[in-house]
Amino acid sequence: MEQQHVDVLVVGAGISGISAAHHLLRDDPGGSLVVLERRARVGGTWDLFRYPGIRSDSDMPTFGFGFRPWRDARILADGGRIRQYVEDAAADGGILDRIRFGRRAVSADFSRDTGRWSVEVVDEGTGERESYSAGYLVGATGYYDYDTPYRPEFPGEADYRGTLVHPQQWPEGLDHGGKHVVVIGSGATAITLLPAMAGTAASVTMLQRSPTYVLTLPEVDPLTSVLQKLRAPEGLTYRIVRGRNIALQRGSYAFCRRFPRLARRTLLSLVRVQAGKGVDMRHFSPTYKPWDQRLCVVPGSDLFKALRSGKASIATDHIDTFTAEGIRLKSGEELKADIVVTATGLNVRLMGGMEVTVDGRPVDVRNRVLYKAVMLEGVPNMSLVIGYTNASWTLKADLAAAWTARLLAHMRRHGHDIATPVASDGDRSPFSVMGEALTSGYITRADEVMPRQGTRAPWRLWNHYYRDRAMLRSAPIDDGALRFTTAGCRHSGAEATDAAGSRDADARIA
Ligand SMILES: Cc1cc2nc3c(=O)[nH]c(=O)nc-3n(C[C@H](O)[C@H](O)[C@H](O)COP(=O)(O)OP(=O)(O)OC[C@H]3O[C@@H](n4cnc5c(N)ncnc54)[C@H](O)[C@@H]3O)c2cc1C
Repeated sequence: MEQQHVDVLVVGAGISGISAAHHLLRDDPGGSLVVLERRARVGGTWDLFRYPGIRSDSDMPTFGFGFRPWRDARILADGGRIRQYVEDAAADGGILDRIRFGRRAVSADFSRDTGRWSVEVVDEGTGERESYSAGYLVGATGYYDYDTPYRPEFPGEADYRGTLVHPQQWPEGLDHGGKHVVVIGSGATAITLLPAMAGTAASVTMLQRSPTYVLTLPEVDPLTSVLQKLRAPEGLTYRIVRGRNIALQRGSYAFCRRFPRLARRTLLSLVRVQAGKGVDMRHFSPTYKPWDQRLCVVPGSDLFKALRSGKASIATDHIDTFTAEGIRLKSGEELKADIVVTATGLNVRLMGGMEVTVDGRPVDVRNRVLYKAVMLEGVPNMSLVIGYTNASWTLKADLAAAWTARLLAHMRRHGHDIATPVASDGDRSPFSVMGEALTSGYITRADEVMPRQGTRAPWRLWNHYYRDRAMLRSAPIDDGALRFTTAGCRHSGAEATDAAGSRDADARIA
């Protein structure tokens, strides 16, 4: 099989892959670059998810790319518009032509002798295999399993005669008009579905085991509207609003962690105001502290409007069993349902299910620590893009992309073939990079898959935009923890340390 060589191979054409390609082409224009994408279109998450009302729950000025203004004054955006924005960025940046669609990367092996990755790829349409070699690999495959959503089995499901759907696999043309709908879940998806379906459904009930903190946002950002009316330049408007939102996000997150009781009181009193007098606060009073799990946002009070209309409701209870007609709850109440939506979440998966090896040895991601929140210890020439969970994903994806471009320019300037982060045991904690603060179901499940949290710089993951910006945009590339070597040169001083570091990591895996 003929192998095609490129300097950089990016896997994934979602937000992270397009950001990576943009930064690499802009800041390190000398090299060749190809993006592999298993789907037929750009957009990742925003192409896959098609459930009614699908939208961001991050504000668009920070969820949008740093390099491309988001022009709309509405704070959140629907999935279709986000997908189009990502595709437009790819088209304008000359990236679209570099994407090989319908190609799933199945394995990647790095050879220290050649200083190259060999990446095996399957054409999703024909099943035929292709092979690429690349000097540098960017894993921009998102954080969840595209093929199989998280879907616990409920007692009595086999007896149920209605339609069961998962938001990740929404059937085209499913008509919920005039139907009774139950949505199982309490996360962002369930909170989006409730008002989106209430318009035409006979009834929609959100069935949750435990409540989530919700925060109402205005639909339109007043500052953006004012700046637009004043005809401020588009780029300037974007920078001002984005800067303010980053500070607000960071400040409100820090406030919630520092003063959890006050934050809880504030959030619950805001709900009381929005929901009106008749509301049963049991449905909105979580047992955990704010930001132990991701906060859900409600634009323009749509959730509360739907609840007040009488067509939407919330049940906080446990499922006893499915019946032929719907769901019986532990309290004895019966929920009639023509459609049950299991908004039960995602299965966490890194590197898009690719088998990653270094000199033929498997890389066990779970036992490794992340370097500068971008590279995996002991794995040469590979960036792994994992965005923020306590802020907009894209903020981090952009930083990771910009740093990777800096690294490649540095390597080219100094004639290095291989860059490997080398950690010591004291650099690694037992926590997963996601699991220390947030306790959502998918994050707890992620512990099995995610890299370990570091104990100190440059291994500690702060999930903190300002710290990361300083570390990734301006700190020196050559910091002692990242070892640079030459391909095939296994006996130089640097290579010996590099190999030892990698051997240590491999020994832990075994
Ligand atoms: C419903 C939903 C709503 C969300 N809302 C927000 C939000 O408001 N704010 C926020 O910050 N985050 C949100 N997220 C998280 C969201 O996934 C990220 O914000 C962001 O879209 C991730 O972009 P990405 O490019 O890293 O990954 P993805 O969007 O998942 O894209 C990964 C791409 O890689 C491709 N791929 C995967 N494996 C392979 C392979 N082996 N070979 C080739 N191609 C492969 C996929 O097909 C996909 O196109 C949301 C997630 C979901 C599921």
